[in-house]
Amino acid sequence: MQKPTLVVGGGISGISAALTLLDSGHEFYLITDNLGGRVRYDPQAKVNYGAYFVMGSYSYACRILTPEALLKPTSVLFHNSPEVSFPLLHPHSLARLPDLTRFFFAMRQFTSHYGPYKERCLIMPQKQALAVDPYLADLFSQPASEFIREKGFEQASADYIASFTFACTGVSPEGLTAFDFLNVSTGLIVPIYCFRFDQDALVRRLGGRLVLDSITRIQSEPGHYCLAGRSGQEYTAQNVILATPACVTQDLLGLPEIRQSCQLYVWHIRAVLKPLYRRYELNLFPPTSEIMLTARQWDGTYLVYSNTAGADLMQVCETFEILCQVAWEKAMYVQGSAYLDQQPAPGLYLAGDHNGLGLEPAAISGIFAANQIIAKG
Ligand SMILES: Cc1cc2nc3c(=O)[nH]c(=O)nc-3n(C[C@H](O)[C@H](O)[C@H](O)COP(=O)(O)OP(=O)(O)OC[C@H]3O[C@@H](n4cnc5c(N)ncnc54)[C@H](O)[C@@H]3O)c2cc1C
Repeated sequence: MQKPTLVVGGGISGISAALTLLDSGHEFYLITDNLGGRVRYDPQAKVNYGAYFVMGSYSYACRILTPEALLKPTSVLFHNSPEVSFPLLHPHSLARLPDLTRFFFAMRQFTSHYGPYKERCLIMPQKQALAVDPYLADLFSQPASEFIREKGFEQASADYIASFTFACTGVSPEGLTAFDFLNVSTGLIVPIYCFRFDQDALVRRLGGRLVLDSITRIQSEPGHYCLAGRSGQEYTAQNVILATPACVTQDLLGLPEIRQSCQLYVWHIRAVLKPLYRRYELNLFPPTSEIMLTARQWDGTYLVYSNTAGADLMQVCETFEILCQVAWEKAMYVQGSAYLDQQPAPGLYLAGDHNGLGLEPAAISGIFAANQIIAKG
């Protein structure tokens, strides 16, 4: 099968690339073994088993994902330990006001740099977009724990912020870069929403351009690429956007170092939570806990996230019945500062969340790759 461009991988990065090409009238196939990738929305249960929320600032990811229920700050309970917990609106927050103020100033500075960086990433590789801004470039290699110490908000971090970033990544600030920590922490200062992913509408939109297959080999030939599918089908194209998870991209291209991934485990349960955890929609736990969060769903069931396989759910439940469980052995590429070249060879583009954490950077990397191809004409 032949087209000018092949997009490999149907997660948010590949879908963003495909829709950008579609809108410009460029011919392509999107070859993937599933649509959504780490977005795994179950339309029957109306529950997300992978990525859980989008931020109000996710203008590119939300071209594909539809924000729904707003997560209210008053519905969140932060747990410091099994004995100590407090909501945001609590006298304890007043004691933390100086620390929280320093955090908000740090966030204000970060977001004023991050917005323009996002826009630059649509038209230049992330590495180049980062190099333009030394403040952001430093954050990319600085450990988050060092940044927190430097800015003087350790106590607010211990009480609130680290629980939030742990809930989003499964990693403590010791394991995150300052860049990822601040990027994720944006969810504490902008509205965040659960979302819906309409896979059927997307399948209709892509029509015959969507091919369900798994690519096992990529070979560079003069002027084009040859790809082999597990189905036995061969594909050729002048351009390839490889929007597979970083570990797959690494295997397919024999790449050197990539950022290390974390593991996440998700349980969807019908449960009676312990009284302390029943009162709030969202319980966020500290990085020392094996349970990261519990999130009440629209129908009264719960999602529980952990970074530990076989975590003991009885820590938070009185009784439970498992409705579904999903193990994400390579959930997010959050550890380290290795960078993947987004344009490693002529006509070959890499998209995904390997250089930036979460749905929005993934979407932007796909749009960037498509923009490069469209610009070639
Ligand atoms: C449990 C969990 C919770 C998360 N929560 C959030 C959150 O709340 N907010 C947020 O912003 N981010 C969250 N993330 C991260 C977010 O899901 C990812 O950053 C994002 O989905 C990555 O998109 P992607 O397109 O780069 O990769 P993926 O979604 O992994 O897509 C890659 C695609 O490639 C396909 N593929 C793989 N190998 C092949 C092959 N050989 N041939 C063809 N196709 C192939 C896969 O099937 C998949 O469709 C979460 C992730 C997990 C696992």
